[in-house]
Amino acid sequence: MKKVLAFDIDQTLNVAKTPITDDIADLLVKCLDHFEICPISGQKFDQFLIQIVDRLKNPTPEQLKHLHLFVAQGTQYYRYNGEKWEQVYNYPLTDEQVAKISQTIEQAAKELGFWEEDKLQPGDEIIENRLSQVTFSALGQKAGTEAKYAWDPDCKKREKIVARCKELAPEFDYEIGGTTSINAITPGMNKVFGMTHLLEELNVKKEDILYFGDMTQPGGNDYPVVKMGIDTITVRNHEDTAYALRGILGVL
Ligand SMILES: [Mg+2]
Repeated sequence: MKKVLAFDIDQTLNVAKTPITDDIADLLVKCLDHFEICPISGQKFDQFLIQIVDRLKNPTPEQLKHLHLFVAQGTQYYRYNGEKWEQVYNYPLTDEQVAKISQTIEQAAKELGFWEEDKLQPGDEIIENRLSQVTFSALGQKAGTEAKYAWDPDCKKREKIVARCKELAPEFDYEIGGTTSINAITPGMNKVFGMTHLLEELNVKKEDILYFGDMTQPGGNDYPVVKMGIDTITVRNHEDTAYALRGILGVL
């Protein structure tokens, strides 16, 4: 019998970047009575609250104690202490790494003519230190959705920036995300990092975990979990996940 159900978020628990459905929310609350529940994704803590935690209907403090949030690919871990969410650990980039990445991206964007400082809103910034990663947002955080969509719809600008960054600082990984963003991380800060810490923090073995993800094929961001030897269920979307959870709850 598994002790832990771990989940990728985007396209596994939700439609990417949106709150989970009532159906998934109900199923997760039921699962909290039987399993440790661990969402793990590259997103920030506030998005875990918006997309998952705030959608759960009247969970008891006791149930929430079985919900473990592995934020930023598990480089940050939050749990509920009965009153509030507390950060258990955080593995941020060093100041030197943040400085190097920031310089690199700025130089690459400037060389290519994609450094749009003049389009920023007051107080906004292009490069943001998100602790475990550094994020480039071409038009800043506050830009309107329409302007963001129009900036690089085919990712060509960002592909050029990434290619140049890899020449300037090949020791980091660069991932294109969102509409105007590039995330820079240190290699190995993928889901293996998070899952390895999950094993330690929850004091469980690999065999105790069942993982759900939609990108379990080689090259996908859930594949590192498969390679670790953790039992995995591949889903196409949250409907598949709901179907599987109903099956698991049905036989308890
Ligand atoms: Mg996914």
